[in-house]
Amino acid sequence: MTENNAMTGGGLNEPIGMRDFADRLPGVIFQFHRDHNGHMHFPYLAGSGTGLSGVDRKDLNQDARHMLDRLDKEDYPRVMAAIERSARWGVPIATKFRLRLSNRRSRWVALRAQPEESPTGVLWHGLMIDITEQMAEEARLRKLSDTDDLTGLANRRRLMKRLDEEIAKCNRHASPLSLMLIDLDHFKRVNDTWGHLQGDQVLTEFATLCHELLRDEDVIGRLGGEEFAVVLPLTPMVASYPLAERLRCAIADYDFGIASGQLTASIGLAEYRLGEPRDALIDRADRSLYAAKNQGRNRVVR
Ligand code: GH3
Ligand code: MG
Ligand code: MG
Repeated sequence: MTENNAMTGGGLNEPIGMRDFADRLPGVIFQFHRDHNGHMHFPYLAGSGTGLSGVDRKDLNQDARHMLDRLDKEDYPRVMAAIERSARWGVPIATKFRLRLSNRRSRWVALRAQPEESPTGVLWHGLMIDITEQMAEEARLRKLSDTDDLTGLANRRRLMKRLDEEIAKCNRHASPLSLMLIDLDHFKRVNDTWGHLQGDQVLTEFATLCHELLRDEDVIGRLGGEEFAVVLPLTPMVASYPLAERLRCAIADYDFGIASGQLTASIGLAEYRLGEPRDALIDRADRSLYAAKNQGRNRVVR
């Protein structure tokens, strides 16, 4: 036990082979090779994750396609681009992807690899670990930080992010976009008459009602208090105005469990003007809302 004294097995001085050691790792270590013709294979592959159902280690030794074919189609171009960039500039690969297993489920995998020129192409030394659980936890936290506690709607942060994304699309494709700001009328009275808890209940039901009336691609969010906003992609004013009117009538007609006709909403509308900053659009919708309040509430102003 001289040359390999770091590799000890069960007993302190009992050596284990590198292969045994690698196969006990909670992940995969590999060498990945791409030759000058673009053929890719894994000359070396070891670790506990190589027992992927339906993926044979011997096949991968011959051809990496057996694994690459199983990448989620959303992730495939990104992984191939990372390989290309790494080969061209000699920078490490750091990426993650979903890998389809034979039982139709997929796992998230993180990959890190260091490239090295070889006489026949590029050789990478790397490792992969399963990060499915971390990704699920991340998604759960992201959802939590993007969601309004009371109504389950998108919160202001998420809504603004979506608005920015939709504005970017508008500017790229010159497609229409409308923004609707909704403020419930005299909501203080609802609280004063029925209590704060009942007020909360009304807000929750209001959210459900909006969800039912809007399309899946419309994004509704709670800006705070009794103020809401709806981002309406691909919707010009000629379409968003009747939609806002329908919504206004549905709210006025709905039985929120407080005496009927007691809840109305004022709605301000604005259509996006190509190139304008996000805040200018919000400002115009806000002015319309203000006008709706001034003109007597329970109305839509564009
Ligand atoms: P208007 O908009 O028509 O001018 O009158 P308003 O009474 O709705 O106006 P204002 O914006 O001044 O008051 C909003 C009220 O909404 C104040 C607050 O009591 C109530 N509110 C805000 N957030 C919540 C909430 O989360 N739950 C409940 N129950 N009430 C809330
Ligand atoms: Mg308000
Ligand atoms: Mg109000």
